[in-house]
Amino acid sequence: MLEPAYQADVVVVGAGVAGLSAAHRLSSAGVTTAVLEAAPCVGGRMATEKVDGFRLDRIGQLLSTAYPELASTPGLDALVLRPFAPGVLLHSDGRHHRAGAQAGAGGARGALHAVRALASAPRPGALPRVRANAVAAPPRVRAGAPLGTAVDQARLGAALTRIAATPAERLLRRPEAPAAEALAARGVPARTIDGFLRPLLAALLCDPDLTTSSRCADLALRAFAAGRLCLPEGGAEVLPELLARTLPPGTVHTGVRVTAVSTTSVTTAEHGEFRCRAVLVATDARTAAELLPGLRVPDFHPVTVLHHTTDDPPTTGAALLLDADRGGPVAHTTVTSRIDPSRAPAGRTLISTTVLGTPPPGVDTAVRMHLSRLYGTSTARWETLAVHHTPEAVPAMRAPHDLRRPVRLLAGLYVCGDHRDTSTVQGALHSAHRAAAAILSDLGAAGSMHVADPLPTMRRAA
Ligand SMILES: Cc1cc2nc3c(=O)[nH]c(=O)nc-3n(C[C@H](O)[C@H](O)[C@H](O)COP(=O)(O)OP(=O)(O)OC[C@H]3O[C@@H](n4cnc5c(N)ncnc54)[C@H](O)[C@@H]3O)c2cc1C
Repeated sequence: MLEPAYQADVVVVGAGVAGLSAAHRLSSAGVTTAVLEAAPCVGGRMATEKVDGFRLDRIGQLLSTAYPELASTPGLDALVLRPFAPGVLLHSDGRHHRAGAQAGAGGARGALHAVRALASAPRPGALPRVRANAVAAPPRVRAGAPLGTAVDQARLGAALTRIAATPAERLLRRPEAPAAEALAARGVPARTIDGFLRPLLAALLCDPDLTTSSRCADLALRAFAAGRLCLPEGGAEVLPELLARTLPPGTVHTGVRVTAVSTTSVTTAEHGEFRCRAVLVATDARTAAELLPGLRVPDFHPVTVLHHTTDDPPTTGAALLLDADRGGPVAHTTVTSRIDPSRAPAGRTLISTTVLGTPPPGVDTAVRMHLSRLYGTSTARWETLAVHHTPEAVPAMRAPHDLRRPVRLLAGLYVCGDHRDTSTVQGALHSAHRAAAAILSDLGAAGSMHVADPLPTMRRAA
C-alpha cells in the first residue's frame, strides 16, 4: 500500500515520452518526482513488440533529424537515428522514381539536391548520431513522372529549399487552411502536388485526406526539407527507455492507474490517494480529458502498421516507398531491416508498412496485393508477423489548430502530451519541456531537494 503521509513534489501521470522527459527535467532540477504509469511498461504509444527475434514497432515511426527536441531533450544523447537511403522513392506506373536525391548530381534536379545537401550539413545542436546504413542495395530508380518535368522539379526543389530556411515562427504566421487546400496555392505544379507532396504529407501527418492545418503541414514539410527522415535504431521503444534510464531509481511506477487528480493529490485505482505539490497529467488526449474535465477531446487519425518477412527481399534499398498513384491501402512501406539491421534476426528481412485511416476489410490481403505492385514482386509467400491497429493513433490537427495549447491549467495542475502541441514525438517532447518549465517556475527556482523514495512499496519499472 502507498504510504498515505508521503508527499512527492510532483506526480507525473503517464510514462510516454512526454511524461518521462518532463520527469527528467524536473528531477534534474532537484524536484522529487514520481511517474505513475497504468501499463506494465513505459513508452505509451512508442512500443516495440518482440516476435521471433524481430523488433516490431506498433507505430510507423518516422523521425526527422530536424526535430529540435530530439537534439535538446536531456537523456536522448545515446539515441541513434538510421536514415532512409536514398530518402524517398515514389512508385508510379510500375516504376520507382527517386525524390529528395543525394547531393552531388547536377542538372535540372539541382535544387532538390541542394535540399538534401543542406540536410546532411552539420548544424549546431543537430543530432550527430545519424548512422549510415551498412547495406544500401542500389534500387532501380529514375527521375521523372510523379515529380513532373525538369522545370517542375526545379520549382519543387526551390520551394523546399525556401521552406527549410523559413523560421518556424514565420510559417506559423501564415494564413491557416486545410493542408489539401493550401497546397494548391504554393506555386508548385498540380502533378507534383498529387504525385509527391500529398503522399509525403499524408505519411508525415498520418492524415490521408490532408484535413490537417496548413501550419502543421508546413512544419512537417520544413522538418522534411531541413533534416533527414530516420528510424530510431532498435525500435520506437528505445526513446522512452533511454528517458526512463536517466531518472533516479524508483521514480517510475508501472501498473498504477490514476483515476482522479487535483492540485495537491492523485487517486490511484490500486493504491488510494496520495499527496503532492503539483500534478502533471501526461496521458493521451482522451484520458487527459477524463482526468481534467474541460479539456477538449480531439478527433483522432487511425493508423494500422503491418510487418512481413520474406526470404526474397525486394530491391528498393533502404528507401521510404510512397505510392504516387495511390493505388491501394498502403501509405508508405520500407524494408526496415535494411535501414536498421537490429530489427530482424541475422539473414532475415523485415518489411514494415503503414495504412492510414480506417483499414479495409481483410487488410493484410489488400496490403499484400498492393505491396506486390509497389515492390514489383510476389508477396504470396511473405509471412505476416504482426498487424497493429491503433484507432486513436494521433490527435487530428484540423485548422484552426493551436500549436501551443496551455500546459498550466492552475497553479499545481499541469498537462502535457502530443495533444498540446503537434501530434508527433517533437510535439510531445516540446509540450513536456513547456510543462516542466511552468512547474519549476511555480515551485520556485530551487525546487525541492527531497531525496526520499516517493512510493516505497509500489511496483517499479525495470
Ligand atoms: C500508429 C502511430 C504512428 C505514429 N507515427 C508517428 C511518426 O511517424 N512520427 C512521429 O513523430 N510521431 C508519430 N506518432 C505519434 C507519437 O508516437 C506520439 O505523438 C507520442 O508517442 C505521444 O507521446 P505522449 O507521451 O504524449 O503520449 P503516450 O505515448 O500516449 O503516453 C501516455 C501514457 O499515459 C499512460 N496512461 C494513460 N492513462 C493513464 C492513467 N489513467 N494512469 C496512468 N497512466 C496512464 C499510457 O499508458 C501511456 O503510457 C505515431 C503514433 C502512432 C500510434
